Amino acid sequence: MAWNTGGPCPRFFIAKIDGQTFTARDHKQIFVLYRVWKTNNGERLAVDWEESVWKALKSSHPRHFHKDKRKGDPGVSVASAFSFITFIIKRLRNKKLVLAPLAKERAAICFACPMKSKVLGCSVCRSALKLAVKPPEAVEAPQACKACGCYLPLKIWIPRRLLGSSEAYPFHPDCWMRTEDELGCSVNHIGIQQSPRL
Ligand code: SF4
Repeated sequence: MAWNTGGPCPRFFIAKIDGQTFTARDHKQIFVLYRVWKTNNGERLAVDWEESVWKALKSSHPRHFHKDKRKGDPGVSVASAFSFITFIIKRLRNKKLVLAPLAKERAAICFACPMKSKVLGCSVCRSALKLAVKPPEAVEAPQACKACGCYLPLKIWIPRRLLGSSEAYPFHPDCWMRTEDELGCSVNHIGIQQSPRL
């Protein structure tokens, strides 16, 4: 959901999110402050983190923030995608990636999935995302998953056990995470390999 600003502008913007109060002169700074605070706490940004910030701003300044009710796929923000990359690379450390056939199989399921989405942001930021991830083999994948805010060109390479519960986010019923859970299929059955660089 998009948001607009208008009406009386406060001198300072205040937003209370996750029990924390953020104050700034420009409302855009609140997004930055929240992102930095989450990262410093070692937490991942939720897929709808921006919506939470907008709602908190609206709650503090109801006459200045307005919801734009036009529909459409809001996409996944570059910050969400980077947050996923930072989070998963810490978990990955020296662990190995899945083999290319499994990554390709996962990507094909993502391509057919209505939860696939695009990463929003300028071309420079989107190029930076690509540079941050160098999988061992080029495998085409959709840019993002709007269920979890993950960056799919990286996620498809991650061993299932490092990706958390398939119940944590509203993944599609045909999502490969759910299927792999149901099959109890450890990546060891399919093979894993070391990444040269992630
Ligand atoms: S819900 Fe699952 S299959 Fe669908 S895009 Fe997200 S990760 Fe891919």
